[in-house]
Amino acid sequence: MSNFYTEKVLAVRHWNDTLFSFRTTRNDGLRFRNGEFIMIGLPVNGKPLLRAYSIASANYDPELEFYSIKVQDGPLTSRLQHLKEGDEIIVGRKPTGTLVLDNLENGRNLYLLSTGTGLAPFAGLIRDPEIYGRYDRVILTHGCRFVSELAYGEKLVQSVLEDEFLGEDAREKLLYYPTVTREAFRNTGRLTELMQSGKLYDDLGLAPLSAEEDRAMICGSPHMLADLKTMLLEAGFVEGNHGEAGQFVVEKAFVEK
Ligand SMILES: Cc1cc2nc3c(=O)[nH]c(=O)nc-3n(C[C@H](O)[C@H](O)[C@H](O)COP(=O)(O)OP(=O)(O)OC[C@H]3O[C@@H](n4cnc5c(N)ncnc54)[C@H](O)[C@@H]3O)c2cc1C
Repeated sequence: MSNFYTEKVLAVRHWNDTLFSFRTTRNDGLRFRNGEFIMIGLPVNGKPLLRAYSIASANYDPELEFYSIKVQDGPLTSRLQHLKEGDEIIVGRKPTGTLVLDNLENGRNLYLLSTGTGLAPFAGLIRDPEIYGRYDRVILTHGCRFVSELAYGEKLVQSVLEDEFLGEDAREKLLYYPTVTREAFRNTGRLTELMQSGKLYDDLGLAPLSAEEDRAMICGSPHMLADLKTMLLEAGFVEGNHGEAGQFVVEKAFVEK
């Protein structure tokens, strides 16, 4: 048996010069937990060229969705950005990852802290009904450099708020906090600074972060992960993993080469 499924591209949407998303068919045999990632790619010179991708669709969705960067000289994304409806991609059979609800204790507020394409695992998680049963508030934060990089997240949140089945819970519990670092916008600055200064909590009308009561998932650039992880450890949070649920979990949105 091959280690991969071949899936057909059903739709592609470009959000700006650097970001796009696409949907594919999903093999009935592929099971995953919301928040996990998987290897995907294209055949290049007869061999699979693969990269890790968070699954941006929910685990009950009959299709798969991915949200991708376009790295102009990147081996995979210089090709992947030209995908068209009807093309085929390779999808691994072994989803994995730490950003799953089982790795976190229940609590008051759950912070989903993302930068860039680090939003992708949270796209599946905010479509998971269980998340609204486990937390009083779910706060999706998304830090980007430019306003145009927020478009996918804005559309995602809107679709969840309007969803026939999730909408009622999401309208009561889901808070969305986009912030931009290099342009004027209603929220500006880095997530770490907005949390340290307390502005994020003031803007949302929430109590400051507490290790006793709150939980967090982090997905972003290596720099953002290091800063936020240090901040949470200093605040007394304990990191969770597959062995033991904790108060926060971390996943890289990409690896710096
Ligand atoms: C656990 C995990 C999950 C991932 N999920 C996603 C995802 O959902 N969507 C996605 O677009 N990428 C994701 N990535 C990154 C992805 O695996 C590839 O690196 C990316 O698709 C670029 O591939 P490439 O071959 O074109 O360039 P690569 O050779 O892989 O990367 C070249 C350089 O581009 C930069 N880079 C790569 N990916 C990104 C990114 N996402 N954002 C900003 N800069 C980047 C880095 O500096 C990297 O060194 C994930 C990585 C990991 C480890």
